Amino acid sequence: MGILEVKGVNKRFGGLQALGDVNLSVAENTCHAIIGPNGAGKSTLLNCLVGKLIPDSGSVMFDGQSVLGRKPHEINQMGISRVFQTPEIFADLTVLENVMIPCFAARDGAFRMHAYETVEAEADIRDMAMTMLEDVNMAHKAEEHAGSMSRGDKRRLEMAMCLVQKPKLLLLDEPTAGMARADTNNTIELLKSIRDRRTITMCIIEHDMNVVFSLAERITVLAQGTPLVEDVPDKIKGHPKVREAYLGE
Ligand code: ADP
Ligand code: MG
Repeated sequence: MGILEVKGVNKRFGGLQALGDVNLSVAENTCHAIIGPNGAGKSTLLNCLVGKLIPDSGSVMFDGQSVLGRKPHEINQMGISRVFQTPEIFADLTVLENVMIPCFAARDGAFRMHAYETVEAEADIRDMAMTMLEDVNMAHKAEEHAGSMSRGDKRRLEMAMCLVQKPKLLLLDEPTAGMARADTNNTIELLKSIRDRRTITMCIIEHDMNVVFSLAERITVLAQGTPLVEDVPDKIKGHPKVREAYLGE
């Protein structure tokens, strides 16, 4: 049993079958990639995992509990965190302040901003955010204005904002989209180090095959809303069905 179990998921948009009988099992503390041509249904599947879309049928189980029927913030509290295709950060705040915001949410119920609006509490949160920034090699940029950073740094910051919540499952939708090569390589290294701690499960949607093959331990190929093959990267490379799916792009 994987930490994430998707069974028989279907999703239609009017006459279009975006997902058709999708099964997916993601093993705990591994990195699983979902690849496939444009329009294959990758983002739709991710949206079904985080409560942004509700499948027409099928089941989505996370850590033994159904996510279906739960609101996005409830799914987030279950331990699923998502990095969006375009970084979602607070452009007017500093890097450190950006990480402090989700820290409040990450604290357990006994420690809430509204209940403990003390100087000590803020210092605590500041420490927690700073430790996170050190962890992703961004401590030296703590006081920088978030909105003026490079795309790669914004992405790194967004990851810090997700990781500080200590999710069990991190979902990444094209984390290197639109990035320069150097930023892509830095992102690969960061994700590798997160993967190798073996404390977090990662599910990544990615177009860049270099990124996929650097990170993924298992790969599911989605084509026209249906899983075509699922295997280890070596078996996916050069798989005739995969080549066929991509040639049609
Ligand atoms: P991918 O992320 O693999 O590129 P998507 O999941 O975004 O693919 O889209 C799968 C298919 O569903 C595409 O044909 C897309 O046009 C369609 N689609 C996605 N979202 C919607 C929506 N909200 N309404 C109608 N059609 C949609
Ligand atoms: Mg997409």
